[in-house]
Amino acid sequence: MSGEKYVAEVELTSTICAACGVAFAMPSHMEAELRRTHSGFYCPSGHSLSFTAKSGDEKLREELETAKRRIQDFEAERDRRREQTAKARDARRRKLRAVS
Ligand SMILES: [Zn+2]
Repeated sequence: MSGEKYVAEVELTSTICAACGVAFAMPSHMEAELRRTHSGFYCPSGHSLSFTAKSGDEKLREELETAKRRIQDFEAERDRRREQTAKARDARRRKLRAVS
């Protein structure tokens, strides 16, 4: 049946269309999911929109990946220097043995 009325409590989050400026709202859980997935949606006037800003989780994940890469680079540099030092030490020992 159509035209029936009902009352419900729904949490809504408002947003503004970047193309036409119309303010509209959607269920908060939907807004959070759209921000998380960056999926597209439409304003009431039909403009195609998406939330492009990175979420807090995405920023933290990127910072973590950057930190992991820096650690790997640091460890690779440390290992390279250790190898150089060991080779130089071996060369000095060989030289000393040849002299004595
Ligand atoms: Zn619009």
